[in-house]
Formats: sequence, C-alpha cells, structure tokens
Amino acid sequence: MSSKTAKPEKIRCDACPVMCYIADGNSGACDRYANQDGELIRLDPLTIIEKNVADGNPVVPFLETGEVWDGDVVQSKERFITAIGAGTTYPDYKPAPFIVSSNAGGVDTVTVVTEGIFSYCGAKVKIDTDRHLGPERNLVRANGEPVGHVTTAEYGSQMLSIGGVHHLTGGGKKEGRVTCETLLALCNGQAVELSIDGGADLVVQANKPPIVNGAAEERMRVGCGSAAVGMFASQWKDLVDEVVVVDDHITGVMSEHQAGKVIGWQETGIRIKGRRSTPGRYFQVANPGNGWGGTDLVDPLTILGDFNPKKAKPGLSLLMVSTTGEQFAYFELNEDLVPIEKDVPEALAPSIERIDENCEPALCSVVFMGGAGGSLRAGVTENPVGLTRSVQDSLTNITCGGAPTYRWPGGGITVMVDVTRMPENSFGYVPTPAIVAPIEFTMSMENYIALGGHADHVLDLVDAISANSGRQKDHILNGQRFVDAHANNPWPIKGKH
Ligand code: SF4
Repeated sequence: MSSKTAKPEKIRCDACPVMCYIADGNSGACDRYANQDGELIRLDPLTIIEKNVADGNPVVPFLETGEVWDGDVVQSKERFITAIGAGTTYPDYKPAPFIVSSNAGGVDTVTVVTEGIFSYCGAKVKIDTDRHLGPERNLVRANGEPVGHVTTAEYGSQMLSIGGVHHLTGGGKKEGRVTCETLLALCNGQAVELSIDGGADLVVQANKPPIVNGAAEERMRVGCGSAAVGMFASQWKDLVDEVVVVDDHITGVMSEHQAGKVIGWQETGIRIKGRRSTPGRYFQVANPGNGWGGTDLVDPLTILGDFNPKKAKPGLSLLMVSTTGEQFAYFELNEDLVPIEKDVPEALAPSIERIDENCEPALCSVVFMGGAGGSLRAGVTENPVGLTRSVQDSLTNITCGGAPTYRWPGGGITVMVDVTRMPENSFGYVPTPAIVAPIEFTMSMENYIALGGHADHVLDLVDAISANSGRQKDHILNGQRFVDAHANNPWPIKGKH
C-alpha cells in the first residue's frame, strides 16, 4: 500500500505589490519573508533599542544584548520598538504593524511603526576630498548602469546623488535593479564601487575614507586657498616674502590678499594666470584634477606669469602650498627673476605642519532621503493628511530605526537620516524595485486620536514586547533583537510632542 503525502500549499505574501507565492521552507523574492510550516514569517528579528534608565545614557552604541526579552520593561531600561523587522503596511488601508503606547515623562504617547516601501528615495553621498571626481551633472555608474549623478560640491567635499525614482523606475530593468542594489548596500554601510563618466573610479562606504582611483583619501582641505591665506597669514609673516595657496576653486595670494595687507605684507610683483575675483583671490588657475589643491597641476609654477621687474627682486622667497598641505614647494627668485626651487627652510616647516594638523580625516557620509507617501501615512491614520499636518506642525516626531531625521519644509513628508546612526542592516528591498526603510512616527496619544489614528489597534509597550507579540495580523515575527541606543541619538520619545 502506498499513501500520498499532500504537498504543502504555497502561501501568498502580500507585504508588497510583488505578491510572491512562497513554498514551504522557501523565502520570497526579497528574502524578507518566508514560508515556515505554512506560516508567513518575517525573517529579520524585530529590533528594539534600549537605554539604561538610571543614567539615561547607553553604554556602548548598537551592541546586541540578547535575542530574548528578559521581562524587564520598566525597572531599569527604557525601550523603543523600531520598525526594523516589524513588517510592512501593504495594501495601504491596513493599520501599521505596531501602534505602541507608552508613557514618557507623564505624557501618554503613541509610536506608529512600519517598514516603509520607498520608490521615491535615494542617498546623498558626501565624499571628503579635494580631488576632482568628475564634472557636475555627469552620470555615476555601478556595474556599468547609471545610478546617480555628480551634484554641486560642498566645502572640502564632492557630492553625489544616488538613486531616485527615475533610476529606480524610469530606465531599463537592469538600471532599476542595480540602482536598488547600490542604494541598499550604501545604506546598510557596505562598500560600493562607483565610476563617474569622464571622472574617477571610487569605492564609497559610509564613515570610511573614500578610495579615489585606487588610493585611499586621507584628509580634507583646511579651507579654500583664500581662507588658508587668511588663517595662516600671521604665522608666515617675516618667514617668507610671498605665499600662494593653490586651489581649484579659489587660489589665495598673500601679498595681494586683504589678510596680508592688514598685517603689512609688501607687494612682490607676482602674477597669477587665472581669473582674478577680488584682490589675492583667483578662480580657474588650472583645470580640475588629482594634483595640487584639486587641480591638474603637477608643477605649481605653471600658474605663475613673469614677475613684475618693478616690484620683484632677486632672492625674493616664495612658498607654494596646496589646500591640504600635502603638496608644497619653496622657491627663490634668481637674477632673472625666475623662481628656482630650494629646500624648504626649517622655519617654514611648522606652518606647513599646521595646515596638515588642521585638516580633518576624509570620510564618506551617506544620508538616506525618502518621501513617505500613501501606504505609510494610511497605516498611521484613516485620514493621511492629518499625519502630514501633524508632522509639519512638529506635533509628530519621525525617526528611522530610532535615529533622528531631518524633515524638509514644504509639502509632504520628505525626510533625511544619517545611516550610521541607525542599527546595522536597517534597510531592505523589494524587487519592484524599491528600498524598504524603517520609519516610526511618535506623538502624544491626544494628538494621535485627534488626527484620526487607528486607536483600536494601539498596543501597550509591555504587551508589544512580550513573547506573545510574535504573531502579528498577517505574519509571524522572527524573535527580537535588543540593541543599545546610539550614543549620539536623542531618545526617540520625548515627554512632549
Ligand atoms: S517581494 Fe518580499 S515583501 Fe514582496 S511579496 Fe515577495 S516576499 Fe513579500
């Protein structure tokens, strides 16, 4: 006799528009949900941040402290349920996975917790370097696919805009997939290889030095050439006749600069090939590049014209230095008023070291930026505009994985968050493609009811953390991960919102 064993049916995940049918023992297309014995399980554990009540401060940032709740909710630790591992509100009309009440400083508060699916999102990447990475507006590529562009440089840093809805949805299928992978890796703190059209090859990783064309960047500039002249004018006085700080943006010339004038620097007859902006400040002395001060200069003398023989004298001394102090050279004029390179006098060495000392370490910074739209807001309230207004009126605090966010002014809910202030691996993806990011809305209970919140679904913090909360409305949680609050983050729940 033989008996047929019934093949387990596939179950459907409806946590995103892909609507995977998942067989027992398998995971869905995003690896976030799986079928475990016929039940839909969220694979990443629910992340709960905690801090000691006694001192109000966490001991060590983001160390895992255990997988299992120890039953201690109020005695010695404050806890905050983040959206990481909580599950997603989809379709839009469902209440968020967790709507948690707690009491903070005598105020009843509510935190609405959900993993948002962001089609409108990207990362702003700040790369501390003087080196020219590529022309503004040029494409940034990963694996050959366009995933972003070079945007306006900031003081001492080059900026990239990565992701965005046009790369995620507006190009080919591969472009969308690679953009999503790149964003996910960047936001989860992994190293990403990028190349810029007409520019550099990069390795970028949050909170790590950038690698530009194979070389790790060490330091930021002390300032632009003009600022460096101003900062160090008095230290160079009487040690050298002229100083030029070479910079791709604003090259500074001591004897002409206001900083030199006010402390009595004499004219030297120097002539700079570049566009004079104001006295002692020159633009466009060379092309952008990987040489002196972010220019393509290998020989700094290239930017000098002939010295004015009415003002210059043989023996006149000249120090040329870059904005990071990495490159420097010392010259004296010969009888024909031609600069001849000589060893740097010992007396000048401390001032060059001072530039170096004032340069901060070069790092990459990754800030996630996303717009909270339909499903997110509907998961909080039946009247989504109520949440928008509450956020805009600063009655609702938004955190991402417990980290503080910056909300853009104007319409909608567009937030930015430093990914290094969030717990590890806070981000996920779905293959639509879109990024999954945790988001929490915290407000007073009074305000939550006033904005039409899902008051019937509010769960006390103790119940939410208790072992029984593993079973959610439409899926099962995969345990809990407790992490210490980030030392630099404000606690997400304040007494008043
Ligand atoms: S991609 Fe992930 S979230 Fe979307 S339906 Fe499949 S398993 Fe669920």
